[in-house]
Amino acid sequence: MSKRAESKAGAVAPPADQTARALRERVKELSCLYRINRIFDDFIGSSDDIYQRVVELIPPAWQYPEVASARITLDARRYATPGFQEGGPTQAADVVVGGKHRGVVEVVYTEPRPSLDEGPFLKDERSLLDAIARQIAVIVEHQEAQQERSRLQKQLMHADRLATIGQLAAGVAHELNEPLSSILGFAQLLQREPGMPEGGKPDLQKIVTASLHAREIIKKLLLFARQTPTFKGPVDLNKVILGAIDLFRHHFEKEEIELLCLLSPEMPLLAADAGQLTQVVVNLVVNAMQAMPGGGRLTIQTQVQEGHVVCVVEDTGVGMTPEVQDRLFMPFFTTKEVNQGTGLGLPVVHGIVAAHGGTIAVRSAPGQGTTFTIRLPLEPVADLENRPES
Ligand code: ADP
Ligand code: MG
Repeated sequence: MSKRAESKAGAVAPPADQTARALRERVKELSCLYRINRIFDDFIGSSDDIYQRVVELIPPAWQYPEVASARITLDARRYATPGFQEGGPTQAADVVVGGKHRGVVEVVYTEPRPSLDEGPFLKDERSLLDAIARQIAVIVEHQEAQQERSRLQKQLMHADRLATIGQLAAGVAHELNEPLSSILGFAQLLQREPGMPEGGKPDLQKIVTASLHAREIIKKLLLFARQTPTFKGPVDLNKVILGAIDLFRHHFEKEEIELLCLLSPEMPLLAADAGQLTQVVVNLVVNAMQAMPGGGRLTIQTQVQEGHVVCVVEDTGVGMTPEVQDRLFMPFFTTKEVNQGTGLGLPVVHGIVAAHGGTIAVRSAPGQGTTFTIRLPLEPVADLENRPES
C-alpha cells in the first residue's frame, strides 16, 4: 500500500493524504469485487446479461474512471463498456477455465495518464484485474455446469418420454397386427375367388393396398419400439451407404443436389443389421432431399474413432427450429404434407440406432441446413466370426 502511494504523484503529497487516497482506492477495488460476487449470487437472467453487468463494474474501480473503459472477451463473445476503444494504454488478464484459455478482460485508458507501476496502472489494479478474471472464470464454470445439468435432464426426460411412447406404440401395433392380418388375408383370398363379381375387384384391391400400407406403419412402429430382433452380422457401413445412395442417384441429378461422399478408407466391420442400417441411411437421405427442394449439397461422411464408428449426414437445406428439433423423434411428428411424410422416419432411425447401442445427435438452424451424427460402438470382430454375413 505504501509503495503504491509513493509511486503516485512523485511522492510529494503528505503521508496522511497518501494513506487516505490509498485507502480510497482499496475500498473502490474491494467494492468492485464484492459487487461482482453479488451479481453472480443473485443472478437469474441470461448469461449475456451477467457479463455485461460485470464489465460495467470494472472502470469505476480504476484510478482514472473518467477515462477508463473495459471489455470482457469470452470465446467469440464480447462485452464492453460504452465507448470502449482499443489502442490506448491497456491492462489485461486472461480468463482461464479448467486450465483452458477462454478469453481476456481488458481495461483501457482512452487518454494518457502519468506513468505508474504498469504503464499508467497500479500494481494493485493488476491484482484486482487478475481477481476479476478469476471471478469471471468461476462464473463461466458455474454457468456451463448448470447448462450441462439442464441438458442432461432434458435428455433424460426425452428418453423417458420416448420409452413410454415406444411401449404404447408397440402394444397398439401388436394388437392391430392380428386383425389386420385377417383383413389382408381374407381380402387376398376373395381376390382369388372365381365367383367374384368384376365390379367388386377394384374395391378389393383398395382394401389390400390400404392393409399393406397399414402393415408398413405397424412394422415401423415396432422397429421404433425395438420390438423386432436385430440380426447382427459383420457389416461394412461404407457399403451400406453406397448401396443406399445408389437408390437416389437420378433424384440427386434431377433435384440438383450435389453429393459429397467422404467415406473412411479404414472402415472396420460392424456388428450390425445391414437391412436396418440401410433403412437408417435411406431415412436420413430422404429427409435431407426433402429439405432441399431448390437443390443443395448432401455430405455423407464416415469416420473411425476410438471404439466407435461415426456417420454424419449433412444437408444445406431449410433447417429446423428448436421446437421442431425437440419433437423430431416422436412417432407421427411431421411438418410435411400428408403424402410426403408419416412422421415415422426418425423414430425408426432412433430405434435402430438405440438397438445397436449407438447414439444419434442433430444440429440444425433454420435456413442453415441440418447435420445428423450417428455413433455406433465397435464390437470386437472376433465376436462376429461365428455369425452369418448380413
Ligand atoms: P417425415 O419425414 O415423415 O416428416 P421424420 O421422422 O423423418 O418424418 O422427420 C420428422 C420431421 O423432422 C420432418 O417432418 C421435418 O420437419 C424434420 N426433419 C427431419 N429431417 C430434416 C432435415 N434434414 N432438414 C429439415 N428438417 C428435417
Ligand atoms: Mg422422413
